[in-house]
Amino acid sequence: MISRRGLAFGAGALMVAGVPAAPRAQAQTYDLIIRGGRVIDPSVGLDAIRDVAIMGTSIVAVEPNIAGPATETIDARGKIVTPGLIDIHSHAANKPEFPAAVVREGITGWIDAGSVGMDDIDRAVAVARGAPGIARVLIHVVRGGALSRANARDLNNIDVAGTQGAIARHRDMVVGVKVQISENNAGGNDLETLRRAQEMVGPFGLPIMVHIGQGHSPMRAVMPLLKRGDIVTHLYAPAPNPIYDEQGRIFPEVMAARRRGVIFDFGNGSNGHYEWATTERAMKTGFWPDTISTDFLSVNPSVVDFPNVLSKFLYLGMPLSQVIACGTVNAARVFPCFSDRGTLNVGAPADVALMELRTGRFDFVDNFKAVRTGTQRLFPAGVVVAGKRVT
Ligand SMILES: [Zn+2]
Repeated sequence: MISRRGLAFGAGALMVAGVPAAPRAQAQTYDLIIRGGRVIDPSVGLDAIRDVAIMGTSIVAVEPNIAGPATETIDARGKIVTPGLIDIHSHAANKPEFPAAVVREGITGWIDAGSVGMDDIDRAVAVARGAPGIARVLIHVVRGGALSRANARDLNNIDVAGTQGAIARHRDMVVGVKVQISENNAGGNDLETLRRAQEMVGPFGLPIMVHIGQGHSPMRAVMPLLKRGDIVTHLYAPAPNPIYDEQGRIFPEVMAARRRGVIFDFGNGSNGHYEWATTERAMKTGFWPDTISTDFLSVNPSVVDFPNVLSKFLYLGMPLSQVIACGTVNAARVFPCFSDRGTLNVGAPADVALMELRTGRFDFVDNFKAVRTGTQRLFPAGVVVAGKRVT
């Protein structure tokens, strides 16, 4: 009944306007069609050759052979088409020129993970606001940020009330607190630094992201301080104090943290954060990352290459669709700002990454210059942000 009344009303409205309704079968004109790519969208379990049609800033169809016409067409034959990549451990807010660099890697959403603390938060927020995609910031627990010499080895560098004030001023852009608990970042203050980070986010209901590895306290003491929704980054950081015991068994506290909803992130980085041997040993246990991220840019923008980081997990035996999930839908689930991202489902914002999956011999390097040679590698091959082609 309701739909019949709706139809009658619709027809009447059209008659009043004097415009005949277009027959449904007639081809629609789209703003952009990405044609013939292998669409891999783990959010809906899709891996098939499809066209992706976009109107304005939204995905409006994902189907075989969409008729068109379209104002613009991208030929994606031979390429992989995925939701825009989401990098939850980035440092793209650290320099004004970084956002334009990372989008070329297919990254349409990122989180700056603590490049700055309360002293510099306005600067990082301004860079994130100007980014082509969707960008947010984790404020560092130390007032000077990740890159300052003043670290948590001196607890006077942590200002809980001041940092809460900075979060309150940027409630829309600051989405959590970043903590580093390696020996050189926090020394014996690691657990106290974590407690103070939780104190900072408490009133706001925000997560913390903790950079683990090479720390003072054992992982078994660190994990109980993390709550549901918090993020562990550099999950495969080498000894001392990795996530497994001397026999290579994942600590029960780490397993318990995952069960209660703590997220485990890769965080490639460039300086001591992962090595192949630790990664391979942990991957063998089946303890795989929830999300894959770059942690690049604090050092050198030319080495940002999210598709390269994703490809390391192809080498490690992770199926392609799961690798893509770790850089799209899984990452989108971590922060509410990405709640409509990480998917190509109809109605979603039109953020799309194109990649090429090439076969050959490719060297993958860890943070200690150890090399593994794989047979497949993803390369960036185009990106669409909010319906507009960027590259
Ligand atoms: Zn980092």
